[in-house]
Amino acid sequence: MSQQIYFFGEGKADGQAGMKDLLGGKGANLAEMTNAGVPVPPGFTIATTVCTAFTTGGRAPDGFAAEQETNLVRLEKVMGKKLGDPSDPLLVSVRSGAKFSMPGMMDTILNLGLTDQSVEGLATRTDNPRFAWDSYRRFLQMFGSVVMEIEKSRFEKRIEALKEARGIQLDTDLTVKDLQELVATYKKVVRDERGEDFPQDPRKQLDMSRDAVFRSWQNPRAIYYRKQNRIPDDLGTAVNVQAMVFGNMGSDSGTGVGFTRNPANGAAEFYGEYLTNAQGEDVVAGIRTPQPIAMLKDEMPGVYAQLREITDRLEKLYRDVQDFEFTIEAGHLFMLQTRTGKRNGVAAVKIAVDMVKEGLIDKKEAMFRVPPGDLDHLLHWRIDPTAAIQPIARGLPASPGATTGMVVFSADEAFRLGGEKKAVILVRQETNPDDIHGMDLARGILTATGGNTSHAAVVTRGMGKPCIVGCSDIRVKDGATQFTAGTTTITEGEWITIDGSSGHVYPGQVPLIEPTMSGEFDEFMRWADEFRTLKVRSNADVPRDALKAREFGAEGIGLCRTEHMFFGEERIRPVQEMILSANEFKRIEHRILEVRKAAERASGLESTRLADELAELESEFAGPSRGYLGSLAALLPFQREDFAGVFRAMDGYPVTIRLLDPPLHEFLPKREDLLVEVAVMKAKGERNARLAEAETLLHRVEALHEFNPMLGHRGCRLGITYPEITRMQTRAIFEAAVLVKKEGVTVLPEIMIPLVGAVTELTHQKALVIAEAERVMAETGVTIEYLVGTMIEVPRAALTAGQVAMEAQFFSFGTNDLTQMTFGYSRDDIGKFLHVYLDGKILPEDPFVVLDEIGVGDLMRLATERGRAARPDLKLGICGEHGGEPSAVAFCHQLGFEYVSCSPYRVPIARLAAARAALSEAGLTAQSTA
Ligand code: ADP
Ligand code: MG
Ligand code: MG
Repeated sequence: MSQQIYFFGEGKADGQAGMKDLLGGKGANLAEMTNAGVPVPPGFTIATTVCTAFTTGGRAPDGFAAEQETNLVRLEKVMGKKLGDPSDPLLVSVRSGAKFSMPGMMDTILNLGLTDQSVEGLATRTDNPRFAWDSYRRFLQMFGSVVMEIEKSRFEKRIEALKEARGIQLDTDLTVKDLQELVATYKKVVRDERGEDFPQDPRKQLDMSRDAVFRSWQNPRAIYYRKQNRIPDDLGTAVNVQAMVFGNMGSDSGTGVGFTRNPANGAAEFYGEYLTNAQGEDVVAGIRTPQPIAMLKDEMPGVYAQLREITDRLEKLYRDVQDFEFTIEAGHLFMLQTRTGKRNGVAAVKIAVDMVKEGLIDKKEAMFRVPPGDLDHLLHWRIDPTAAIQPIARGLPASPGATTGMVVFSADEAFRLGGEKKAVILVRQETNPDDIHGMDLARGILTATGGNTSHAAVVTRGMGKPCIVGCSDIRVKDGATQFTAGTTTITEGEWITIDGSSGHVYPGQVPLIEPTMSGEFDEFMRWADEFRTLKVRSNADVPRDALKAREFGAEGIGLCRTEHMFFGEERIRPVQEMILSANEFKRIEHRILEVRKAAERASGLESTRLADELAELESEFAGPSRGYLGSLAALLPFQREDFAGVFRAMDGYPVTIRLLDPPLHEFLPKREDLLVEVAVMKAKGERNARLAEAETLLHRVEALHEFNPMLGHRGCRLGITYPEITRMQTRAIFEAAVLVKKEGVTVLPEIMIPLVGAVTELTHQKALVIAEAERVMAETGVTIEYLVGTMIEVPRAALTAGQVAMEAQFFSFGTNDLTQMTFGYSRDDIGKFLHVYLDGKILPEDPFVVLDEIGVGDLMRLATERGRAARPDLKLGICGEHGGEPSAVAFCHQLGFEYVSCSPYRVPIARLAAARAALSEAGLTAQSTA
């Protein structure tokens, strides 16, 4: 029969810190502290295995009762008091404590062992009847509500009623007689509610409390939390039975909590609060306002010095920040708990760097002291944690950081006011490419609909500005001048604050804290670079973002989306012109081919007529200043200029440029808007050029309408139907490359063909690219080294990767589309049902945020294997939103990718995740610090 209970006391414990599986976090650390000679009230820990036996078998295992009795007797001996002794009772606390601290577990029971008899003994012994009766009524209430599961309010109502009858505010103003009356009332509550008396046998109190802890392992909140955090259900919880010490014995007593370093900023300063003459949770319950721990130095200098010495020792022992709880009984200090202190990213980095310098940990371990995602806290503005604020709505946190601004409802208004350097937040039902100009000048974006990969989410993450999407708490109508959130109405021009890290919306201007790119942060990131083997690139579409990416340490561009260069005032017109004239161009082109063919066979008069027509058609074609080719020609300098800027920013680093990807209608006004515009003009009786123009636009938009744009005419399908676009973009890329090369910049372009599903699509586009590239090089006499490859985002491309790799020099996994097409979930519509899927555990996670390794990841693995088999030097990378998600980074490391690419603001996160992946592979992992 293995040991089921572990004793701690008198400087020696059966257990130790490494035994969290068996003793839970709290029990293991109580044992460790005891062994370290720290004053800890003695007690014993009932192992998690007993809980598991209880949960599965409905009772404690054989021999358990005897073992418990032995330990209890030992505790009585150590304390020199007996449980239930009417003249000098031993009192204990019963504390739950699983391996991981979990909400939902049973609240601690204090003062167990008090009965109608022993309360009198305690009163006499301490010469403090108030204390004794206060302890008894607390125990009755805790036991009644927590163990006997009687509604807390049943007790609270009685004490409130009594206070009201006495005309007093504070519990501490109740007299001994009042407390005695309250005890009688509470006992009656128990009898009325449960039909049985409150147990007067302390051993029964103990057994009932212990079993209630076991039961709490199975309560719905605990089960839910475990599911949410992937904690196995069979771990079970330990139960700690520990002798009571009393912080409520007078002014030389008290209780408090603290941290060995500041968990908000990491400063190496003692941090905490305490209350004199208080018990248990009083400090955190907010009944009285606690005092800063520094005051303890004046009030009880001896105790303070001892507390500093002990907690310093604990920090060295655990080699990490400690979050501790203590109680002072009549001038004597007792430690009741210690555990790893939780901290934000800012503090985590500072603490890790400081601890390396102090020699507590090495650089490798430092990597595991900062969860990569928490680096976000260092890169964005955040809400001042001391601000007293209430959110009015909550949506999906789509792009991190907090910002405050005046509400506007249209992109034009955002553009106008933003241009005047006003702080505005754009609030929309959703955003689309038409809104870019306004989004660019808004401080933040809030949308009522949309998921994590909606337009607003993707664009703002790239821009590094706060965004909340899918905020169904708010109601906003098209053309609105106000929105509502519950009972709150916010009108245009009013201030709000949004926190894109939490998804919360606040009214008014909430105080914010600026991100600090401290020296420690830089240093920490350089250490990460020493360990990682995976390169980190950034997704950046314009020179400004590319520069930002370099600042954060990106080693190249993994995705430069050329279409983002199409937006902007002077560009969108030629783009629209190009789209409007493309069909006419295609018609003429087709007709020329027809006429040429016919002319070959024709003779006489017919032949002359055809020759005339051909001449006319060709003149229409040749050097048009507007129209299809003309507008493409007009776009070329813009693209060339942007590419040149990106190349300059990435001097010496590769730049992957993706050719045009989105369906063309995304560049045109919305069909609904045009319908309204035309209808209004007609109603006004307008018959002019403007109406004609609007009608033409409408017809073209209708012609371009698709039922499934995401599966429609986009990606390389565009480049194949409109090869002139591919040619123009290739020319712009190579002219830019030649230009900057002449300036002395090292330029490494990688041309990426999007949405390939069949290798023949790639073959077609590649031929165009190479031909145009050769042409530019021949014209300029400058040679540019370049690659042509493809995005792997259509499942068929992954499956036929062997064929595709014959043509592609690189693969870049576009995991947004790959996820969309593998699951068949539209990323723009998933918001409608995702929450149901997550709540119902249909999906473990939003697959657009956390890479689905089992499904989508398997396609990646397969494509990697088949691609490499066909082309051993195939370059592999990822450029989807997942490229900055730590688990996906680790996955890409395992697959042996050359790089991951993510938005500029996630580059540091990816660098750290890559370092951890490399270290984990070498057998190093995060030391369990839970
Ligand atoms: P939690 O898991 O919620 O932190 P704890 O078991 O730590 O719960 O109990 C909460 C508080 O109860 C402790 O911080 C301490 O103040 C008080 N407490 C628990 N056990 C004892 C004890 N034996 N003597 C005095 N106070 C105790
Ligand atoms: Mg605690
Ligand atoms: Mg794509």
